[in-house]
Amino acid sequence: MSKEHETREVRPDEAGAIRDLEEAHENNFSFSLTEVEQATCKEWMKTHDTECRIRDTDTAIGGRWSFNFSKTTLGNVCKVSCACGQEKNVTDYGCW
Ligand SMILES: [Zn+2]
Repeated sequence: MSKEHETREVRPDEAGAIRDLEEAHENNFSFSLTEVEQATCKEWMKTHDTECRIRDTDTAIGGRWSFNFSKTTLGNVCKVSCACGQEKNVTDYGCW
């Protein structure tokens, strides 16, 4: 086994820092899309809009698009969906 893969004890101060990060993540209810996720999202919405069976049923106030965020310990999984039932995972796993 190479040296960088050896396990070692986590120092008490490191364990505290890790617990603080985990607690901060668990208590964070602020969700947003990265620039990459926004670009993926816009591209899918534009493409889907050309083929969606309910594209002409938008109301004056919109509401056709929904965003779903699933918290994981590594990051948030972000999905955008259309009221017709189609959805796209737009998560930028490269930033996890
Ligand atoms: Zn649709």
